[in-house]
Amino acid sequence: MNMKRFLWLAIYFLSPAIPITFAVAAMPYTLGDPIYLLSMVLGITAFTWMVNQFVISARPKFAEAHFGMDRMYRFHALMALVSITLAFVHSRIKFSLLGHQPLSGQLTLILFALVIIFALLFLLNSFLLKIRWVTELRQFVIRTFALQFNTMVWFHNLTLLPSGIMVYHVLQSTAATESLPMRMIYFLYAGAGLGFYVYHKLMRPIRMRMNPYRVISVQTEASNVLTVALASQRGEVFRYKPGQFVFMTPLGENVLREEHPFSISSSPDNLQRLTLTVKEVGDFTRRLKNLRVGDKVLIDGPYGYFSHLNYPKSEGVVFIAGGIGITPLMSMLRFMYATDKGQKVALIWGVRTQPDLIWADEIRVFEKEMPRFRFIPILSQADADWKGETGFISEGVIRRVQPEHEEKKASDVDYYLCGPPVMMEKTIHILKGMGIAPRNIRFERFAL
Ligand SMILES: Cc1cc2nc3c(=O)[nH]c(=O)nc-3n(C[C@H](O)[C@H](O)[C@H](O)COP(=O)(O)OP(=O)(O)OC[C@H]3O[C@@H](n4cnc5c(N)ncnc54)[C@H](O)[C@@H]3O)c2cc1C
Repeated sequence: MNMKRFLWLAIYFLSPAIPITFAVAAMPYTLGDPIYLLSMVLGITAFTWMVNQFVISARPKFAEAHFGMDRMYRFHALMALVSITLAFVHSRIKFSLLGHQPLSGQLTLILFALVIIFALLFLLNSFLLKIRWVTELRQFVIRTFALQFNTMVWFHNLTLLPSGIMVYHVLQSTAATESLPMRMIYFLYAGAGLGFYVYHKLMRPIRMRMNPYRVISVQTEASNVLTVALASQRGEVFRYKPGQFVFMTPLGENVLREEHPFSISSSPDNLQRLTLTVKEVGDFTRRLKNLRVGDKVLIDGPYGYFSHLNYPKSEGVVFIAGGIGITPLMSMLRFMYATDKGQKVALIWGVRTQPDLIWADEIRVFEKEMPRFRFIPILSQADADWKGETGFISEGVIRRVQPEHEEKKASDVDYYLCGPPVMMEKTIHILKGMGIAPRNIRFERFAL
């Protein structure tokens, strides 16, 4: 694990150490009562890790740059579950010791449990969705109440309520009522969590509005795919790594003013403009074609760890894309074309029909000018005149870009995948079956 990741994880996990030390100092007699001590340690740990959730969900760049937002959101979900479990055990022990449980503690637990279950069901691609009846129930609720992703995010923000009750609850604890330093530490931690929340929800949008991006073109790539080119009013756009993504909020007429994530499809060798290439899948993406040149767009980013520049240079790189999953890979490819034409790189791109191969002409230019580049398009619904590969991404196709005499060097080849969930699952399975080490397989999910 890289050093900075280790450091941030250490800070996260050890953050309860300070309040625990002060609590023990305020109540030294707890050292002689292991059960009471355990309950206190669990309670403080649950509180601290829960407060840390606000820091994670505020997309802090200092940590995100080392993990990637998708990993951080998954960690956020996992730690919320861990924290509520600790809080539950804490409450059970306290109940067995005192014979009662404060209302604030009960409310905190119940409301957090509801928020977490809601997020696992409706916001995340969580383990719960592997259970068939859970998925069916989820779809039923979404259909019945016409739930939009942003409505669900709004519900998730109700987490502020149990958080406030939780702060009240810890301030009523014996340690806090008996010790001023303890109260100050609780205020400090809660204040830090709230500070990150306020920055994320209020300050960042204000900052973005002060430097809005302008649409400089909207180009149709295929019947259901378009590319929006954006420029910053300040001249250059921000620095980013090829493969990263942004959150975009369009402010034009007849578009939805919602924040949605999109990979950057342009290459950072040209910082005069930034392009996002979007496939129509729902309400928001369908209306993007209403964007007009000159419209304002808010851009928050860059985020994500999915970039070949985050890893040591390897002997070869294989990009495997499914449909619109080409966008982050195209950004990396464009960057390689601009900066390192000698790179050994292959692109396997599975799409449905020939018009879905947007950028085929540009990729043919890469083929001509990059001597070690190979391109294998695969169509699942090919016309009679198609001379290339048909079907789906298979081991046979992957092996074609990994000739046998180079197999001994297989560990030096990195695989970058992006596409629909089923395609990714199957391809990762194939790669692992071919003996490719998990550390050489990197992927981006188009779901946070
Ligand atoms: C890191 C990342 C990079 C992406 N890059 C691209 C890209 O380059 N090109 C592209 O076409 N698509 C990309 N997507 C997917 C894109 O964000 C969704 O297709 C889009 O948000 C769908 O919105 P909708 O309202 O049109 O469709 P809906 O039918 O409402 O949503 C379809 C699915 O998209 C997700 N989604 C919807 N709204 C949001 C939101 N506000 N925030 C997060 N997820 C949401 C949910 O999983 C939802 O089930 C990316 C997604 C992620 C997470």
